[in-house]
Amino acid sequence: MIHPVAVIGAGPYGLSTAAHLRARGIPVRVFGDPMVSWRAHMPAGMILKSVPSASNIDAPQRGHDLVDYCDAAGIDRLVTDEDLVTADTFVAYGDWFRKKLVPDLEQVRVVSVDRRGRAGFELKLDSGEQFTARAVVVATGLSGLEHVPGELAAAVPDGPTPTGPLSHSAQHHDLSRFAGKELLVVGAGQSALETAALAAEAGATVRVVARGKGRVRFGEPPWRQPRLRPDTPFGRAWSLYFLTYYPHQYRQLPPQARHFLTKRVLGPLGAWWLRERFEGQVTVRDVAAVQRLTVSGDRPCVSVRTHGGRRADLVADHVIAATGYRVDLAALPFLGDGLRTRIATSRGTPRLGAGYVSSVPGLYFTGMLGGSSYGPVMRFVCGTEFASPRLAGHLAAAHG
Ligand SMILES: Cc1cc2nc3c(=O)[nH]c(=O)nc-3n(C[C@H](O)[C@H](O)[C@H](O)COP(=O)(O)OP(=O)(O)OC[C@H]3O[C@@H](n4cnc5c(N)ncnc54)[C@H](O)[C@@H]3O)c2cc1C
Repeated sequence: MIHPVAVIGAGPYGLSTAAHLRARGIPVRVFGDPMVSWRAHMPAGMILKSVPSASNIDAPQRGHDLVDYCDAAGIDRLVTDEDLVTADTFVAYGDWFRKKLVPDLEQVRVVSVDRRGRAGFELKLDSGEQFTARAVVVATGLSGLEHVPGELAAAVPDGPTPTGPLSHSAQHHDLSRFAGKELLVVGAGQSALETAALAAEAGATVRVVARGKGRVRFGEPPWRQPRLRPDTPFGRAWSLYFLTYYPHQYRQLPPQARHFLTKRVLGPLGAWWLRERFEGQVTVRDVAAVQRLTVSGDRPCVSVRTHGGRRADLVADHVIAATGYRVDLAALPFLGDGLRTRIATSRGTPRLGAGYVSSVPGLYFTGMLGGSSYGPVMRFVCGTEFASPRLAGHLAAAHG
């Protein structure tokens, strides 16, 4: 009996990988809630920071780019760096891509994956079904990797929730719940700044708490990008060019260098078009350190150390930690212990070889989970162009 390959995840990476595997004639079962990170875990009204040319989900055949979706849907073509892609359009593009290339997606969760001798892997689904896969691709993206720093999280032993004093930015879609409320947003990246602007537009009084002096910054618009540097999906710079187009070489760097670059490159920076919606609507509080969160009654208070070395207490109705995501294999609940302990890791992230394979033959990781091996481009949709054909090629050669 020929066992299928299981792809866990139906976001841009899972859909793209599945399309590539299928084009090679490999039987695939694909699981997940399609485009759920974009539909439910990002704020309504959000606009992508990535430009249209960096927002394509890679497919094995021509005709599946964002611009092809625009043509099929009869909407204005999104092509130049000044055209803004709304999250709604991107979700609709993902759904169109799925219907065309992964029509038999199964909208169920994988609850466990374990080794099954030479046959491959044993998977259990939340439908109760159990089956064997010859190889597994983990493309679970942002799911379960939300990071809240300990100094904030310690105040909410049951974890952050949208209705309690503290939440993570991924727990919100509709920010209108904060109309008339005082909100603190901790963070300085695009997610923090856009969440703050959207909440202010919805009627909240918003302060952004950012660590470091002058930390809240916005990128230059396309017409002010330096012309003598190479173009990349993230702006014009040699460093970005290397990271975008040479992920293989990135994998050969020493681990310390890779972890440093993964953290530092493409650091916090608001999109150029957000500046005018943000400034004047949102107050920024630059601080030396966020020290702790306490809750008095149901009002949270964030204690900070100012740049002058004093303590200040910032009180609000709610605090949103827009503090990003951290890859940690321990946070993927479906990986059985027997399997997890066999995966070679570096600081909790899987160490991947050529073709995105882990140290367990037949077990692949892509998207953000491949970031510490293949670089920061893996955190973005445009990374599918590099990852998906290579992963599918490796898997076809080894298990096809
Ligand atoms: C606020 C915000 C804005 C962003 N803006 C941009 C941008 O402008 N441009 C850009 O390129 N990137 C952007 N990103 C990054 C973007 O989210 C990722 O590039 C992209 O979503 C990664 O796709 P993915 O397929 O790896 O994961 P996801 O899109 O997170 O999809 C994960 C999939 O895994 C499935 N899944 C998880 N666990 C299981 C399980 N146990 N069983 C079955 N299925 C499971 C989920 O149902 C889902 O289908 C942004 C991120 C955030 C948070």
